[in-house]
Amino acid sequence: MSLEEILIERISNNGPMTIADFMEQALTHPEHGYYMRADPFGVNGDFITAPEISQMFGELLGLWAGVSWMMAGSPGSVNLVELGPGRGTLMADMMRAAPLVEGFAEAIVVHMVEMSPILRAIQEQTLSEVALCETPIWHKAFADVNEGASIIIANEFFDALPIEQYFKAGDYWCPRVVDVKPDGDGLCFVLLPPFDEPDLPPGLINVESDVMVEVSPTALDITADVSQRITEYGGAALFIDYGHSQSASGETLQALKNHKYHDPLIDPGQADLTAHVDFAALAQRVFASGARAIGPVAQGNFLSALGISERADSLLREANPQQAEDINNALKRLTDVEEMGELFKVMAVVQQGAPIPPGFDK
Ligand code: SAH
Repeated sequence: MSLEEILIERISNNGPMTIADFMEQALTHPEHGYYMRADPFGVNGDFITAPEISQMFGELLGLWAGVSWMMAGSPGSVNLVELGPGRGTLMADMMRAAPLVEGFAEAIVVHMVEMSPILRAIQEQTLSEVALCETPIWHKAFADVNEGASIIIANEFFDALPIEQYFKAGDYWCPRVVDVKPDGDGLCFVLLPPFDEPDLPPGLINVESDVMVEVSPTALDITADVSQRITEYGGAALFIDYGHSQSASGETLQALKNHKYHDPLIDPGQADLTAHVDFAALAQRVFASGARAIGPVAQGNFLSALGISERADSLLREANPQQAEDINNALKRLTDVEEMGELFKVMAVVQQGAPIPPGFDK
């Protein structure tokens, strides 16, 4: 049975399902979920992420983590946590840079938060090639990560978390859900009549009528957990994702297959499903949890402030012509306004009253 058939049967028995439920099934169904089946990354996969574009990304984030560790008082043991680590490339590059900050590499216990067994196996392989002082630990959810001072990194993690959509009709909110098409052949979106007032971020409550809004309760819950962890034990978090700085109406749920847009309801489990991240909503949850949100700033500005051009120059000095071209292309892709430089944003979470971490001072 395909996932589409499973979902059609489930909806026929129980009624329409929320979009969040649908996304969760499409991405993480134990047998058919997109992340549970195969490795989706890279040129042969469906999309390519910043750490897969260039080692410079992870190296700079490793230094950021090291400086944040110093700013948190250089605790003798620190959790270096990555949420949704994909192939493990970012963590491996961060760990290669960690020894540049004295004492940091020795203090780190790596925690990988990953629910996909296939990706976990790839991450284990990737990390086996890096020198680590402590054995890395895998968890299925952030809530399971050991207590203690933590540096928490998430790149393109929040965009993969389930969202809900609501259509504003006059003063009412109609949930948009997934139903079976009237002819029984496939899935379709429908609007339900309004019932309860949904729990929306403050920036969305007063939008104009006749628009769609999106909210990710899971993203807000994880943000609250991360913020509480930092408030209680110290450290910092860095969220990097594509999205908007201010909450805004509009529909951003999209599916990507073989680097092309795809109908999100066709062949669930076969395409990546994402939605833009509402950084204002996350920041509001950070403050509500007692921590301090910094940014978001554009990824291009953040990486420039961390010295990506200087890092590229030093790699270029050792590079052959082909490598030089790759380095220049990667620099452009990561920082150019027309590429990932502006749509991708970076937000930090620190303790209330803590100084501003590197990359945000402009
Ligand atoms: N950070 C990586 C991969 C991004 S793709 C990179 O930049 O290349 C999203 C990652 O989040 C995948 O590793 C996926 O398996 C994981 N993931 C998605 N939903 C998750 C969830 N609810 N809990 C834990 N991991 C999740």
